[in-house]
Formats: sequence, structure tokens, C-alpha cells
Amino acid sequence: MSAQAIFNRLALIGAGLIGSSIARAARAQGAVRSIVVTARSAATRRRVAELGIADQVVETNAAAVEGADLVILCVPVGACGEVAAEISSHLAPGSIVSDVGSVKGAVIRDVLSQLPAGVHFVPAHPVAGTEHSGPDAGFAELFVNRWCILTPAADTDPGAVERLTGFWRLLGANVERMSAEHHDLVLGITSHLPHLIAYTIVGTADELKQVTRSEVLQFSAGGFRDFTRIAASDPIMWRDVFLANKDAVLEMLGRFNEDLATLTRAIRRGDGETLFQQFSRTRAIRRGIVEIGQDSPAPDFGRPHPELPHEVPQELPRPYSSA
Ligand code: NAP
Repeated sequence: MSAQAIFNRLALIGAGLIGSSIARAARAQGAVRSIVVTARSAATRRRVAELGIADQVVETNAAAVEGADLVILCVPVGACGEVAAEISSHLAPGSIVSDVGSVKGAVIRDVLSQLPAGVHFVPAHPVAGTEHSGPDAGFAELFVNRWCILTPAADTDPGAVERLTGFWRLLGANVERMSAEHHDLVLGITSHLPHLIAYTIVGTADELKQVTRSEVLQFSAGGFRDFTRIAASDPIMWRDVFLANKDAVLEMLGRFNEDLATLTRAIRRGDGETLFQQFSRTRAIRRGIVEIGQDSPAPDFGRPHPELPHEVPQELPRPYSSA
């Protein structure tokens, strides 16, 4: 038992990348006294038990929340409403219910109406992730120096918001508060639109008949592979994000299409100045991200580079000779 435990019993519903990372980090930091986990499938529940990242693994969402003072929904955005309905009558009075959904407006709409009076709903979104899913993908350090955005309603109990803020800080996150509407707009441009572009470009390249699949893969270091990492993200999670954040994504997509048209016109007209100006501006943005510690300054995302070959491979051309 830790002196710094902020909650007595943490219930995690869903044990994928995010849920299992919270379990690992909360235990490592002693942020809670005990952790109970559930997931939809028996296979995931069994794996969580094998990994030993929870004190208890239970079969149903209702059983998980019994006696918990913090419940976090770590399921795809589209499943939050039905999970809230299942747990509603089993929640302890005074408990805090939160989530980790990448969209806030739709989750609040689906969850809030299901919860009984006396239970505090404090929606949250840890802006941290990888392209991997499932309980094996999680790790305790996932949230360190990443933002966790809380979007409580104006009339939410301040004490509940403070306790959840303390919890996320203990897991290493920086906590920011904003309205759900603002969150969905900001994440629409910083996360949802980049994913949509990545899903599109990888799909388009794959469909190009004149470029064979092997060539796309072979020359992927030209930039394509950086899109493929994002485009490998979980299809269920991202389907739900676009359905749930439809308005903000369509707004950002409209702006993006206008800016793309500007660059298209510049290329067609040979307008190098417009291209140079835009690329200089975006280079400075990358520098800014590194400066505030949101990415490594190492070139090429810190990928390791193989050593130079010790012997010249046979198939290399002979050195140039003017003779
Ligand atoms: P994930 O790895 O696919 O895990 C999802 C978990 O939810 C699985 O354990 C799944 O159980 C469980 N689940 C699904 N429906 C359920 C239900 N009705 N009842 C109980 N459990 C259910 O997904 P994730 O990446 O952790 O994402 C979870 C949430 O975090 C999403 O809302 C997402 O928007 C948000 N988020 C994700 C990221 C990211 O980069 N991945 C970052 C920030 C926030 P089974 O394994 O049995 O199917």
C-alpha cells in the first residue's frame, strides 16, 4: 500500500493499449490501492491475468465497478454509452467515472445520461499512444510528459476533478482542462485529420496499378513509411473516432482541401515562392514540437542506422575512372 494512493479501488473497463498502460503505471506509482480489470473477451481477460497487471480480473463490467471509487472506461468511443448503461446501477455513490476516449463531445452525450445522481463524471483523454493494441502493447511510461486533457462540465464537483488531475499527474502526464467542443476541434486537426490522411495515402499507394506493391514497400523510406505507422492504428478505434467527431473532422477537412488546392496550384504554375514559404513555415513547426519536448530531436525519429559495410558488395559498380 502506497502513502501516495489517490484512490482506493480502480476499475478499468477495457484492457488494451491504454487500459493496460494505466494499470501498469498506476501500480508502479502506487496511485491506487487495488486494481480490478475486465475486458469484453475471455482471451483478453485471461491475458491480463497472465501478465499480472491487476489485482483482480472479473468477467463483467458490472462486477468490475462494485466498490470502486475510480472507474475508467478504456473501450472504443462507440462502446462507452452501452458500457455506461451496464455499470450504472452498480456504481458506488460518490465514485468518479472517467474515460480515455479520443473524442469527448459524443462520449459525454452517450455516458452522462446513463449515470446516476451522486456519481461524478470527469471525461479525460490522455494524448498518448502507439499503433499497437491489446494488453501486451501497454507500458507504464506511456503517459510520461504527455498531455492528458480533462473536459469536465462547468458544474462538475471540483474535488473530483482535482483527484483525477492528481491521478494523471502521478502517472507522469501534464494535465490540461478545456471544453469538450474545443478538445474535439483541436484533436480534429492534430490527430484525427493526420490519421485520415495517412489512411488515404497508404490506401492510394496500394491501389496504384502502375506501382507494384513491392516497389512501394522497397522505397518506403522516401516518406511513405512514416504514414504507414499511423495507418496501422486500430481500425475499430479509428472508425469510432471519425463517426463520433464527424462535424469537427469535416470542418478541418474543408480547410485542408483549400490549402491543398493552394499548393496544387503553386505546383501547376511553377510558383516556387509559395512552396518555399509553406515548407519553411512547417519546418519551424517541427522545430517547435521538439523544443517543447513532445518529440526526440534525433534525426529520422531516432531510427538506428546500420553500420557502413566492411567489404564492398560484389554487385556494386566499380569506382569511376576517367580512363
Ligand atoms: P484497444 O487496445 O483496442 O483496447 C480496447 C479494449 O476495450 C479491449 O480490451 C477490448 O476488449 C475492450 N472492449 C471493447 N468493447 C468493450 C465492451 N463493450 N466492454 C468491455 N470491454 C470492451 O484500444 P486502445 O488503443 O486501448 O483504445 C481504447 C480507448 O482509448 C479508445 O476510446 C481510444 O479512443 C482511446 N485512446 C487511444 C489511443 C491510442 O493511441 N490507441 C490514445 C489515446 C486514447 P477485447 O480485447 O476483449 O476486445
